[in-house]
Amino acid sequence: MIYDNIAAISSPRGIGAISVIRISGYNLLEILKKLTKKEKIKPKYMYYGWIYEEQEKIDEITFVYHENPNSYTGEDMIEIFGHGGDLITKSVFRRILKENIREALPGEFSKRAVLNKKMNLIKAQAINDIINSKTEYSLNASQKMFTGGISKKIIEIKEDILNISARLEVEMDYPEDIEEDTFEIRKEIENIKSKIENILKNSENGIIAFNGIKTTIVGKPNSGKSTLLNALLRKERAIVTDVPGTTRDTIEEMLNIKGILIKLIDTAGIRNTEDQIEKIGIERSKKAIEESDLVIFIIDGNKKFDSEDTDILQFLNEKKKEKIIALNKIDKEYKDIKIEKEKIIKISAKNKQIEDLEKEIYERYSEKLYIKEPTLTNESHKNILEKVLKDVKSALEASKNNLTNDFIMYDLRNSLENIYKLTGENYTDELLEKMFSNFCVGK
Ligand code: GDP
Repeated sequence: MIYDNIAAISSPRGIGAISVIRISGYNLLEILKKLTKKEKIKPKYMYYGWIYEEQEKIDEITFVYHENPNSYTGEDMIEIFGHGGDLITKSVFRRILKENIREALPGEFSKRAVLNKKMNLIKAQAINDIINSKTEYSLNASQKMFTGGISKKIIEIKEDILNISARLEVEMDYPEDIEEDTFEIRKEIENIKSKIENILKNSENGIIAFNGIKTTIVGKPNSGKSTLLNALLRKERAIVTDVPGTTRDTIEEMLNIKGILIKLIDTAGIRNTEDQIEKIGIERSKKAIEESDLVIFIIDGNKKFDSEDTDILQFLNEKKKEKIIALNKIDKEYKDIKIEKEKIIKISAKNKQIEDLEKEIYERYSEKLYIKEPTLTNESHKNILEKVLKDVKSALEASKNNLTNDFIMYDLRNSLENIYKLTGENYTDELLEKMFSNFCVGK
């Protein structure tokens, strides 16, 4: 039998004290003995030794062997700790690949862990989120997903649904002997519904905390949008991610305000002031505004507050958007504009005098985004859970309307299909592919 053994350099590239190489697969003990020329190797012990190529010593290492199923992936695993440094690590890695072991794909270790039921999908996602957290607030949100027991909550909901389904089924099979209390059943479905609603409610902020507050800067031409953008992105705090292979329109610019992550959207449109499209003004930004969690509306302090400003304001109010209004160019003589019931922050984007604006953002979000309850951090998980909620609600309706058990069970079965997507019991290759391709190699 040919085993599909995989290996990866799990530590970051570059020079460091120690590098880590992981191997997962089957019959690894034999391979490890050959690599290290050690005869007696027990699982879970750390050994000191060398990696050999024939008689030649390649690197001085320590290593641990894990025997299946007691490992991260559930397979045999080896962890090798060698000297840090790209060249030495690569030469050890090349040596390992000669043993019928191939290079792992991104996230493949975690994917195997899920397939071998060592971990469910939500937990795998949480681990990846922790690794990828860009600011303290995102890290907190992903930790609440991981240690905050979201997967435990989801499993609890799953078991509640299974339990009710089983009871309804038994009643259908033995209608003379068993009669479930319909009121009781209804109460339990209601209970499940509120558990799901609770998670969804927390997740709204959890997703924002982890992924960043989607923010758009709007204002009429020449109000100072692009200048403000540059001021906000002062190099030392900006996290600019240029998503490879995409057009300039999807460049994401991330910003860290005292640990709060801001994701500036539509920045390509703002930057490109030569662009005629930009001159159309608000039209272009409407879509971005609709997708935003927060809009920063800039008013030009050197100009009259005109119909163009009113249009923008009206649109924001219509859409009930969270907004911050900033009066710009206060370094010159400016008109002190007042708008009823609105707080106006004064800034000078040109002089990078934007502390009050940053303070406003921090004050508005620091409490709200400090997640304390178990939360999801991922929009697609939230969408799946919303589908679960829809079916649970439909089951509740069926119960309230005194429909027969098979109607209720039909809805509950549908809700389970989606719950299984979250726990990883019902996965499609596509779903796994999409999820794990975002992982690092070696995780
Ligand atoms: P946009 O069209 O809204 O992106 O506006 P820009 O950022 O391109 O700015 C338009 C003009 O206003 C430029 O000449 C800027 O230098 C100027 N400007 C922007 N912010 C300020 C400011 O705070 N004070 C002053 N005096 N001028 C500013």
